[in-house]
This record gives sequence, structure tokens and C-alpha cells, in this order.
Amino acid sequence: MTCEELHQMLHDYVGGALVVETRTTVEVHISGCEHCGVLVHSYTHTVRVGRALPRCGLPPAFEARLRAVLEPELRGEKPAG
Ligand SMILES: [Zn+2]
Repeated sequence: MTCEELHQMLHDYVGGALVVETRTTVEVHISGCEHCGVLVHSYTHTVRVGRALPRCGLPPAFEARLRAVLEPELRGEKPAG
């Protein structure tokens, strides 16, 4: 598996939507790739934060903006601007 392939299935991996064989392939890649390990960790955290938010039906545009702010912070970067 390449990093690019991992990125494409990251959402399904974090959401538990992958079959066991694919999960194992992802986990093997993560164990040998520090960059993807950090990415998966950040993404998992972002998903948890997202689920922790009240389920009162955020407007999609607001949710997208929220993620745009949260994700760089979770990666330890400063949001642009
Ligand atoms: Zn990788």
C-alpha cells in the first residue's frame, strides 16, 4: 500500500468501514510510516471531536468551516490567517 492509497481509505478506516484484511494492510503501513501514523491519529481525533458535537444538524457549510479550523490545529499547525 502506498501513502496515497492509505489517504483514500482513511475515512473508511477511521469509521470502521473496512474489511479486516484491508484494516490489517492499513495498520501494517501505519506501523512503518510515521507520516501516515500521525495522519491517522489526527484524523481519528478529529472524527471523535466531530461526534462529540451536539447532533442538532449543523449546516454543512458551517461544519466544513469548523473542520477547516480544527484539522490544522490537530496537526499542530496554525490556521492560515
Ligand atoms: Zn505512508
